[in-house]
Amino acid sequence: MDFYVPLHMSLYYTSLNSGSNGNCFYVGNEEEAVLIDAGLSCRETEKRMKQLGLSLKKVKGIFITHEHIDHVKGVEVISQKHDIPVYINRSTRQHCRLPVPEKKSVFIQNDETIEIGELKISAFSKWHDAIDPVSYVVAYKDVHVGVFTDIGSVCENLIQRFAQCQVVFLEANYDDHLLENGPYPFMLKERIRGNKGHLSNEQAFELFSSHRSETLSHLLLAHLSQENNHPDVVLEKFKTISHDVRIGIASRHEATPVFQYGIDPKKTAPESPMQLNLFGDAESM
Ligand SMILES: [Zn+2]
Ligand SMILES: [Zn+2]
Repeated sequence: MDFYVPLHMSLYYTSLNSGSNGNCFYVGNEEEAVLIDAGLSCRETEKRMKQLGLSLKKVKGIFITHEHIDHVKGVEVISQKHDIPVYINRSTRQHCRLPVPEKKSVFIQNDETIEIGELKISAFSKWHDAIDPVSYVVAYKDVHVGVFTDIGSVCENLIQRFAQCQVVFLEANYDDHLLENGPYPFMLKERIRGNKGHLSNEQAFELFSSHRSETLSHLLLAHLSQENNHPDVVLEKFKTISHDVRIGIASRHEATPVFQYGIDPKKTAPESPMQLNLFGDAESM
């Protein structure tokens, strides 16, 4: 195996935060990057990116999945301060309680693929209790990074997109038992587990065990509920069949490290992911 990975052929990805308190994911190569959702304040987004050695100057688009506050809280300030266009569908923009600046909005169709430099960002419709929710896959060369959270039921769109990814941020919102026996009122429990609510650990596990690509190498479990889930509970479940897929958590308390996916230009299949330290040096995992 060739350990030298040319920097211009790598994809970098991280979750700045994931959960009902804010969602923001970064995916980019050496030249350009995108954010999927902007659910942290501008100040917190800047702070976490700086700590990770990432620059907002490289971010050429913010892609919004739906209008819930944990996905759009920082979008107005970040897009204006850093002059970044916001890719969003019309209904979602109309239903945002926080304004998405008119001049910064780029309207997308739900089955559209947007090209930003060499990144290709594809949207697809999903089930969730929002006006017109979408999820995204960000592709660079042969590597596909999926960001799949806030999904009430596993539809054909999700299965197809999941099956093409090498890296996935996948919602595992609640454990059935913890939700059932937890403090939430009955109506809220029904909403969460309804087909427009959130994916359970069980639903995420079923998708992973039945539909993952042979080339899937990194699964980050995301949007975990504070009350109805625990990282140890969901990791335990997935580690039973993870085989050679690396499994981690996109936390609701902190950013993940920046991961680097090296792409060997001589091969069609990508190399394994690596984890970067704070100073950007690659460390083989
Ligand atoms: Zn959410
Ligand atoms: Zn939501």
